[in-house]
Amino acid sequence: MSPAPQSAKSRHVAVVGAGAAGLVAARELRREGHSVVVFERGNEVGGTWVYTPRVEPDPLRLDPNRPIIHTSLYSSLRTNLPREVMGYRDFPFVTRPGRNRDPRRFPGHREVLLYLKDFAREFGIEELVRFETEVVKVGILENGKWEVRSKKTTFDNENNDSCNLDSEFVKSSEVECDDEIYDAVVVCNGHYSEPRIAEIPGVNLWPGKQIHSHSYRIPEPFTDQVVIVIGTSASAVDICRDIAGVAKEVHVASRSVADETYTKKPGYDNLWLHSMIESAHEDGTVVFRNGKVVPADIIMHCTGYKYHYPFLDTKGFVTVDDNRLGPLYKHIFPPALAPWLSFIGIPWKIVPFPLFELQSKWVASILSGRVTLPSKEEMMDDISAFYSTLEASGIPKRYTHRMGDSQYEYNNWLATQCGCEEYEEWRRLMHHATSQNKRIHRPETYRDEWEDHDLVLKAHEDFVKYIS
Ligand code: FAD
Repeated sequence: MSPAPQSAKSRHVAVVGAGAAGLVAARELRREGHSVVVFERGNEVGGTWVYTPRVEPDPLRLDPNRPIIHTSLYSSLRTNLPREVMGYRDFPFVTRPGRNRDPRRFPGHREVLLYLKDFAREFGIEELVRFETEVVKVGILENGKWEVRSKKTTFDNENNDSCNLDSEFVKSSEVECDDEIYDAVVVCNGHYSEPRIAEIPGVNLWPGKQIHSHSYRIPEPFTDQVVIVIGTSASAVDICRDIAGVAKEVHVASRSVADETYTKKPGYDNLWLHSMIESAHEDGTVVFRNGKVVPADIIMHCTGYKYHYPFLDTKGFVTVDDNRLGPLYKHIFPPALAPWLSFIGIPWKIVPFPLFELQSKWVASILSGRVTLPSKEEMMDDISAFYSTLEASGIPKRYTHRMGDSQYEYNNWLATQCGCEEYEEWRRLMHHATSQNKRIHRPETYRDEWEDHDLVLKAHEDFVKYIS
């Protein structure tokens, strides 16, 4: 695939969502000469980084007609990546002047939101965004164009400290829909808002409360409670420690440890690691595979999220099956609809912002015709080969978009397609050093103590060209 000889074409493009993916997609599309409209359901940019103490009335989010709270952030959240690695490549996440900025290397969530707002301001993205406008339908027309239907949604943004488990949601008001036609749609609606719940035999009769981490904000409602936390992902690790500060007992259930596992976490007198839950019972007890029986008050599901596109009508060309969104060429384009429908931000276990940036550059340059895609058949063959590799390696379907170490090769592939510089080596090394520090050397303090000072220096040498 090489740059196409024909002159670049300008397209009318709709972007769904103004989070980290939608913002950089809008910037790259406009840079490439396209006319861009960004639809954002909320009333500010930043997506998941727009923290609110409010939670939905149904803490497990099982009601499909519930009012939506998009963010899954908790109050104490600090980034799990160092800011040097986390930021977009050409807009470094350095400490910027201003009051109440958080200069820490692993800052609190508000600093990330302020950074995204700085980004939107620097590149004039806010003027492209239609706030409080929810996309309710994206559908393909016979002439190959896209119909985008949206409706205004006015959120009452009062911060009503209602962050306990029984909080009330302030309802949104809605008006009629708008239909518009676009050449292309770039979907950037995020995938950390639609919870996945663990299946627990007997839980329907179990009398305690259940909550998904999506609706976790602060530890106080868990004071003196016995809490079971299911999962060992980044959020689970933070949340179980947060809650252990006030709860009577916290029991973490992990599916990735041996059945006999039962250990007390070093440094805590009320935090245990168990194997997975076997069953829950009417008498309030929860039984683990290790045989332990714990009378518990609350089960917290830190069990991840599902890809969810309630607005998307692709006539069956794109489906979600066991959390595989597909078929997608390079996790971005459904071959049958390429390049007119694309998805930014689908991979996980990645460094998100720079990957979104490279994906967006590629999409923008393909839409303009400056770079060409392979034929639909070649793209389908590539996807089939990828699925076969996953299968041969025993990787479950639900991990289709999980990248880990393969993200570097992926980023470099994208960079080559777009004719831009390869992913800087210090980023890979720093990400690796942070992972080691977090997993092995300093699980409790990795955000405040590290040894990769040489890489921090290297990063700042690199940033000089972007900071005037
Ligand atoms: P989002 O930020 O979710 O944005 C999607 C936007 O689309 C939202 O604004 C939403 O309102 C809008 N939207 C959705 N549907 C519609 C619709 N129908 N119409 C109009 N608008 C719509 N990443 C890091 O780099 N570092 C971290 O430390 C880190 N920590 C994390 C901690 C938690 C708890 C979570 C959940 C995620 C974390 N992430 C972290 C990952 C984070 O999700 C990404 O960094 C990034 O913010 C995702 O951006 P996005 O634009 O894809 O999605």
